[in-house]
Amino acid sequence: MQLPKIDVPIYEVQLLSREQPVKFRPFLVKEQKIMLMAVEAKDMNNTMKAIKQIINNCVIDEIDADELPLADIETLFLHLRARSMGEVLNLFFKCTNVFEEKQCGMLIEVPVNLLQIPQINKDTPKNIMINDSIGVIMKYPSLGIVDNLLKMNSEVMVTVVAGCIDQVFDGESVYYAKDSTPEEMVNFVEGIPAEKFALIENFIDKVPRSVYTTNQKCVKCGFEHEFKLEGLSDFFI
Ligand SMILES: [Zn+2]
Repeated sequence: MQLPKIDVPIYEVQLLSREQPVKFRPFLVKEQKIMLMAVEAKDMNNTMKAIKQIINNCVIDEIDADELPLADIETLFLHLRARSMGEVLNLFFKCTNVFEEKQCGMLIEVPVNLLQIPQINKDTPKNIMINDSIGVIMKYPSLGIVDNLLKMNSEVMVTVVAGCIDQVFDGESVYYAKDSTPEEMVNFVEGIPAEKFALIENFIDKVPRSVYTTNQKCVKCGFEHEFKLEGLSDFFI
């Protein structure tokens, strides 16, 4: 018997790495299952696999999950969750303030609108000069880079930096990283003076992130708590 096909709404989200908004559909039961399995696994490898699977399932436009900056994956998941399970996520925290000689223990509700999470570090310059004529144009770390990181343990920073260079330029030419081998990029990075390398490390430390801070007063003891949420794990409790 042919069962009816259920229509799902289509939404759009603007990502940092794309000029046009990306179209996606909400989570269905099958993606919720994948997500749950990923959260329960508490294993980075399985979480990454689940993230990629969900992106491939839900994003309608042509997209390479391995190439997406982590900042965009955060944005995409916040929107996916908002459109699938409601825009407002109600998180609960226990008040740890000591009140009348014992911990207050009151539950504090923190409503978070997932579509209104500010993104920090969006304006860190991507263009870094290594000397008077040679410079690099950086790109934000992607899921693929993090994936590679998990597989190796030495020289991690050099590899990350090599993976985050989009272009190298000098007075005459532009060299695209995608046209070079990983070994060539690592060799190039190893030749960067330490003081300039620090500038590049700084770029990677300051990648865009979705961070939400709010103050909430405990109704029982009156203590004002500051809550800070960042990273997918904080938003997907
Ligand atoms: Zn309290």
